[in-house]
Amino acid sequence: MTYLFNRPNHDLLETFAWSNVLLAFDYDGTLAPLVSAPKRATMRASTRQLLRRASKLYPCVVISGRAQGDALGRLRGVEVCRVVGNHGAEPSPNAEATRRRVQQWVPVLKARLRRRQGVVIEDKGFSVAVHYRQARERSSTRRAVLAAARSLKDVRIVGGKLVVNFLVPDAPHKGLALERERSHFACDTVIYVGDDETDEDVFQLDRPGQLLSIRVGRKQASAAPYYIRNQAEIDRLLEILVTLRGDHRD
Ligand SMILES: [Mg+2]
Repeated sequence: MTYLFNRPNHDLLETFAWSNVLLAFDYDGTLAPLVSAPKRATMRASTRQLLRRASKLYPCVVISGRAQGDALGRLRGVEVCRVVGNHGAEPSPNAEATRRRVQQWVPVLKARLRRRQGVVIEDKGFSVAVHYRQARERSSTRRAVLAAARSLKDVRIVGGKLVVNFLVPDAPHKGLALERERSHFACDTVIYVGDDETDEDVFQLDRPGQLLSIRVGRKQASAAPYYIRNQAEIDRLLEILVTLRGDHRD
């Protein structure tokens, strides 16, 4: 993993910026700082402003783990072309089948975890997130959540930052959603930024020269080849991208 803003990588960013490129971002922990109450996650004013400028220069998409409507509401006023929710599953052609399966899990999880202090079960329609950020005993709570997961059939469990995500195994993940968006916009290349486990579905796509994958925060086990040091550095990346196209085309 190399630091994106090392000097030699500037040429790489420039090459991508001048290609027929799609910009794609995760939301929480990427465009917006992580906060203890996910409902309060908002972008800094500077990020919002830069994203607005970027979205006039490039096709942009946000692929979030949030429900699509939730993510859309947080991006109001930013001309992001498209917003994909539920880690890639919303919208999707099999959305109704996905929703039916997910809705069978919700009562089971609620029953199994009802006595666990600090657990929040978030029903997002096409996936479920079980948050344990507020739990005092985080590791035993996580074990209880994973035990509850084992009682469900045909579920894909993906961990995250103090959250366990319950996904339908054959629903589109972020990697598939990104491919779909790239072809929708008829782009040749993609710059993608994400920070968490479900972003690995993008990082694992093997598209040398066509996909520039950037992780927020260095992590040895990640498949992303590049990283930025922290969430605040998203502004630096957006600034560079805006400058690379804006300066020459205005
Ligand atoms: Mg994230």
